[in-house]
Amino acid sequence: MPDYKAPLRDIGFVVNEVLEAEKVFQTLPGYEEASTDLMDAIAAEGAKFCEEVLQPLNRVGDEEGCTWSEEGVTTPAGFKEAYQQYVDNGWPSLSADVDYGGQGMPNLVGIVNTEMVGSANWSWGMYPGLSHGAVKTIEEHGTEEQKQKYLTKLISGEWTGTMCLTESHCGSDLGLLRTKAEPNADGSYAITGQKIFISAGEHDMTDNIVHIVLARLPDAPEGTKGISLFIVPKMNVNDDGSVGERNGVYCGSIEHKMGIHGNATCVLNFDGAKGYLIGPENRGLNCMFTFMNTARIGTAAQGLSHMEQSFQGALTYAKERLAMRSLTGPKNADGPADPIIVHPDVRKMLLTQKAFAEGSRAFLLYLAMLGDIVDKGAEEEAKNADDLMSLLTPIAKAFMTETGYEAANHGVQIFGGHGFISEWGMEQIVRDCRIAMLYEGTTGIQAMDLIGRKVLGSGGKMLLNFTTMIDELCQANSAEEDKPFIDALNAKKDEWLGVSMQIGEAAMSNPDEAGSAAVDYLMYSGYITLAYFWAKMAIIARQKIAAADDDTSFYEAKLMTAQFYFERLLPRTESLKTTMLAGADNLMQMPEEMFAF
Ligand SMILES: Cc1cc2nc3c(=O)[nH]c(=O)nc-3n(C[C@H](O)[C@H](O)[C@H](O)COP(=O)(O)OP(=O)(O)OC[C@H]3O[C@@H](n4cnc5c(N)ncnc54)[C@H](O)[C@@H]3O)c2cc1C
Repeated sequence: MPDYKAPLRDIGFVVNEVLEAEKVFQTLPGYEEASTDLMDAIAAEGAKFCEEVLQPLNRVGDEEGCTWSEEGVTTPAGFKEAYQQYVDNGWPSLSADVDYGGQGMPNLVGIVNTEMVGSANWSWGMYPGLSHGAVKTIEEHGTEEQKQKYLTKLISGEWTGTMCLTESHCGSDLGLLRTKAEPNADGSYAITGQKIFISAGEHDMTDNIVHIVLARLPDAPEGTKGISLFIVPKMNVNDDGSVGERNGVYCGSIEHKMGIHGNATCVLNFDGAKGYLIGPENRGLNCMFTFMNTARIGTAAQGLSHMEQSFQGALTYAKERLAMRSLTGPKNADGPADPIIVHPDVRKMLLTQKAFAEGSRAFLLYLAMLGDIVDKGAEEEAKNADDLMSLLTPIAKAFMTETGYEAANHGVQIFGGHGFISEWGMEQIVRDCRIAMLYEGTTGIQAMDLIGRKVLGSGGKMLLNFTTMIDELCQANSAEEDKPFIDALNAKKDEWLGVSMQIGEAAMSNPDEAGSAAVDYLMYSGYITLAYFWAKMAIIARQKIAAADDDTSFYEAKLMTAQFYFERLLPRTESLKTTMLAGADNLMQMPEEMFAF
């Protein structure tokens, strides 16, 4: 397994220089204490835990996996102890509400930690990661009693949470779900049905698990308007908060799967289990959106984590592995051959990984900070941040996981045949990464959300919110040296608005036009969004180089990576534009029976 070193210099650059987080947090009541020094110190402490405790368990998790028995699920050796250490050090409560035992740090600080945990050991990180979604959901929709009973224990890390949506016949289309919730005389509900693919649904790390479950009340309307949301604890909870009798929810089996072996993916059987309604009846899907949006951003972080992890492994290898000579003459004249990092094709793969990782980090941490503004900002500012997040979340989720997978594959390629061999750990990254394009809504589903609900559904208004920001960046930076970035970004922004209108018009006469364009449109939007962050970073880097008199190599590398992004990755939008505008006919004309003979 490649060693992991948390990219603290780059994280600090994004948090402090690109986002100027301290300045923003001073305007948000409750976050005033989040100073640069404090945020840097927390990141450094988190990095140590990830590098020293979690990373060594990554291979163990993959090889050993989880084991199921009638008594429950056993996690890989070391997972439970690492979790206890994580709890003892107070990590689960980092960015949670102080009223329920949290430390009240901004989401941004939590997401920095999520990236590092994910690079070190994604499978392990999913156990506390799902709790985070459960915390957000109960914080937002739970009653005071539910908060006292469940939230405090989730925040302290004593218990973990899950997200129970999927059933064997439905994942994307939750309107089809069948799990039933029948009222009990005491105000609780009897939950009956089966959920599948539930991550962290059963394990041995804590003595209780809080399942957040979608189910239907008797006589509820069909489809998504008849779904309600429930808290279903694995163990019933006594009035004094202690763990009581076993509730009627059991793990029937765990899945054998392509990757993330250290995380238990469970079939959960609910057999009249006691559940407690969260939020209004039949509005469960709306409430669950709090969980799903948190999880979508968490999954975007997964894409970034794997990009970074694979890049680090590939970079070390490319500097050491000797093969052939540089085309421009030997660079390692005393050795039998040059290191492969001299070859243009290897550099292209490394720089692709680097440009995706650093661009995605800026994008992801910006999204996390928008979340902080939504939570603590003044009304209008919070509403604007919320609208921007709505547009950018599906882009982040799908684009970062698709490019995360690409980056992970480059990592294998850079290792040559050794990349395919388990011992090096590069193929594990590809296997662990693959799920990110599927769960929390597939790329296809994110793309339909972006083009249908967000862009066309708002009559283009949500897109304009972001293109106005691009405009402002372009207007404010007219220096000659920034022109290559600013001119390209400005032109892409105009083109983005134009193609969106074109697809919208075509979709008015044939809705399949939107579906046919959707995934290419999302990827196209992703490349332009990343170009915005790369332009921003390049401008800052150039200014720092001009102002500094000591070592500027970090900023010079930023500028070179920005140039690589604009000249080699952003042009992918040209082919995406062509294919997204190629119309629905070439997809829809073939009758089903002609697909194979
Ligand atoms: C390892 C793992 C962990 C998971 N963890 C959880 C969890 O913790 N909790 C939970 O509830 N679920 C979990 N899931 C389930 C996961 O979220 C779903 O598998 C996923 O959302 C896709 O649903 P599906 O498998 O039913 O596929 P389907 O919905 O059947 O989709 C099949 C294909 O059809 C496409 N498709 C469907 N409808 C459309 C459309 N309208 N337009 C375009 N394309 C469409 C999809 O994009 C996909 O390519 C997990 C799954 C796995 C494998």
